Amino acid sequence: MITALAGGVGAARFLTGLVKLVNEKDLSIIVNTGDDIEMFGLHISPDIDIVTYTLAGIVDEEKGWGIKGDTFHCLQALRRFYREVWFNLGDKDLATHVFRTNLLKNGLKLSEVTAQISRALGLDITILPMTDEKFETRIVTEAGSVHFQKYLVKRDAKNEVLGVEFLGAEIANPAPGVIEAIKDAQLVIICPSNPIVSIGTILAVKGVRDALRHTNAKRVAISPIIAGAPVKGPADKLLRGLGLEVSAYSVAKLYSDFLDTFILDSADSAERDKIEKLGIEVKVTNTLMKNLETKIALAKTVIES
Ligand code: GDP
Ligand code: CA
Repeated sequence: MITALAGGVGAARFLTGLVKLVNEKDLSIIVNTGDDIEMFGLHISPDIDIVTYTLAGIVDEEKGWGIKGDTFHCLQALRRFYREVWFNLGDKDLATHVFRTNLLKNGLKLSEVTAQISRALGLDITILPMTDEKFETRIVTEAGSVHFQKYLVKRDAKNEVLGVEFLGAEIANPAPGVIEAIKDAQLVIICPSNPIVSIGTILAVKGVRDALRHTNAKRVAISPIIAGAPVKGPADKLLRGLGLEVSAYSVAKLYSDFLDTFILDSADSAERDKIEKLGIEVKVTNTLMKNLETKIALAKTVIES
């Protein structure tokens, strides 16, 4: 069994290659829910949807989120009623949120709802929210603390990051199956995702970090940093905001208490020795996922490491 820890876009792109090499039944994906947010009374789980839509082959590949060919008529109509509409929700995408919210309202857990959605979209993969409970990532800026989505989408990650808060981290329990998926796996993959707000959140859920330290699985992470910068997203701003260097080494260090192997991009090969000194094995390869071929090649490197 293989278990992956995932954020949104970077993870989903990597997992597209991985599912070409392994049976869906043998794969569990633990997904960040720190970005979850309520909009117009609907429960939105951005990273779970990105991963689910991508693996189901219906994602809008250009944007990396949402459903391909979707329209935005409902959102446009909502502008009549709401002064502020800053979160993009497509018409087909809304069906997912309506269904999810309805089931949650009927008392189902997010993990149960997520399983129903992935099955309805034809997937045999176990997609697990990191927790069924409230866990909210907030970014501390000069203007105060704001929900991560507000910082990212509404403010376009323009505010200087002074800190990151995980509301609920002390009390949120891992969703059923999360700890088992780490303990029972032969291989645990840390996807190339934001190390602070996508992987850092999962690691902050009670018992997860401990399970990673003690599992017999091989633990392999793919660098989300290429040539000293993130491919996409605000990882650089967040690392800097926390007083950390923006580098592949910096990411490896965040995982060094449990990691066996780090997949480093060829462009950062100069950092190899430094990372090895953390007691982590390093594999240097091309990690830029330009097309399906490069995604599969990267997944192969991870599986064979
Ligand atoms: P989000 O939740 O949608 O922000 O997505 P993630 O946290 O999963 O992904 C953001 C991270 O993915 C960024 O740090 C990117 O640098 C990384 N990423 C995106 N595409 C690639 C790629 O092709 N190769 C590698 N190595 N990292 C990537
Ligand atoms: Ca995310």
